[in-house]
Amino acid sequence: MVKKYKPGIVVIGGGQAGIHAIEEIRKSDGKIRIYLIDHDKHLFYFRAALKYFVKKQIELPNLNARMDNFIKKSNVTFFQDEVKNIDRDHQFVYTENSLEIPYTKLLIATGGIPFIPPSLRKDVDGIFPMHSLEDTLNICEKADSGIYKKIVILGAGVLGTELAESLIERGVSVSILTRGYVLVPKMLDTKSSAIVVKKYQKLGMDIQFNESISEIHTDESGQLTAITNSKNEKIECDCLCVCTGIRRNIQLAQECNLETDNGIKVNQFLQTSDPNIFAAGDVVEYYIPELKTHKLIDLWGPAGKMGKIAGNNMTRDHITYNLGTFHAYTIFAGLNCHVIGEFNPKNPSEYEILETEYLVRDQVCLFRLILQDNLIKGVFSLGEARHPMILEKIITLKKQIPSNITKSMLLERGFDFERILYYQEH
Ligand SMILES: Cc1cc2nc3c(=O)[nH]c(=O)nc-3n(C[C@H](O)[C@H](O)[C@H](O)COP(=O)(O)OP(=O)(O)OC[C@H]3O[C@@H](n4cnc5c(N)ncnc54)[C@H](O)[C@@H]3O)c2cc1C
Repeated sequence: MVKKYKPGIVVIGGGQAGIHAIEEIRKSDGKIRIYLIDHDKHLFYFRAALKYFVKKQIELPNLNARMDNFIKKSNVTFFQDEVKNIDRDHQFVYTENSLEIPYTKLLIATGGIPFIPPSLRKDVDGIFPMHSLEDTLNICEKADSGIYKKIVILGAGVLGTELAESLIERGVSVSILTRGYVLVPKMLDTKSSAIVVKKYQKLGMDIQFNESISEIHTDESGQLTAITNSKNEKIECDCLCVCTGIRRNIQLAQECNLETDNGIKVNQFLQTSDPNIFAAGDVVEYYIPELKTHKLIDLWGPAGKMGKIAGNNMTRDHITYNLGTFHAYTIFAGLNCHVIGEFNPKNPSEYEILETEYLVRDQVCLFRLILQDNLIKGVFSLGEARHPMILEKIITLKKQIPSNITKSMLLERGFDFERILYYQEH
């Protein structure tokens, strides 16, 4: 007989968005019934910190530090299970293990799923994406035991590039193959990519641009032994890690006829086309009223912020979600890289671009400001961080550059950007 549950708030997905939503719901209501359903073998871990685990900079327990107490403290009924179906008419979710949970409000926070090009969807040992803690544990265990001596990474986005660097630090030989001509095209351009490439090559990373995989080689047991690239060169390897992006995990939403495009469409309150169903995190395409368009984003910070706002809006007043000023940050082989605001404008001729290239302890650094109408609109910095948080605030608050500050001063290494942030007209 199927067990009967009382209606409550149901959260599908215990990642960054889902957990933040629950925390927010609990802030206002200690009693409301909450069900959390997630099918990952490991519950809520810092996905964005997996690279530090590969680099051996953090230990496994620190990856899911919050979770052990979270379920108890938040008084959440948790099921390790996969939601298979949402019945909007009767407000129920149905799971793989035959649970039937009625919801008053539902949050879909199912994140993304790694995209694997069809030509690589083969039953071969040693080909997998890098997405979960399980993938990470698998790759580290085999690297440490010497099963994976050489790894090929397909895709030079931020994920592939950071993984390549981390694996090299773990002592594995790595080749990275990309169709494009730059590393991390969402952050770097030709010039900055060349600086990062040089740094990585010094570490021993083999980087192949304008490349793809034309053939997969296996032994009799089905274990990967090599790949052939498009120049017909054979690269012996034990593992091919596919880092070619994610697709939004929208199947559940599509099947129950919620409005979707590449993600689940939500309004400013993170409400889907069904007012009782909210969505947050990587899975959504959120609405930007000023641009009258929907946008996808897959970053750790925004997923948490969306989760909080969805949690609030499911139980309390209606707060609007606003991404704020875009700001992404990473470190490429010791080189800090910040991209803020309109750091790479589509129509550069409409902006004034100031740039300085300089050496710090023999390392080439780049600093670029994108200006328009006496405002700083975007920032790119590589090599050293130059007041990124202050610059983010200046962009957000649309602070005019005072007339006593020249453009060359803005590029000086020691320039104090607080002079713009706190400038008062007399
Ligand atoms: C390896 C890696 C490194 C990253 N590094 C960075 C970084 O350095 N900086 C940064 O800003 N961002 C980074 N990101 C992106 C960031 O991790 C995501 O933006 C963030 O995790 C999104 O959170 P989410 O809660 O929306 O989704 P997720 O974290 O993907 O969580 C979704 C959860 O839903 C569960 N789920 C899905 N479908 C179902 C179902 N049907 N039933 C039950 N459960 C389900 C999944 O098991 C999963 O636990 C990285 C991503 C990856 C994969």
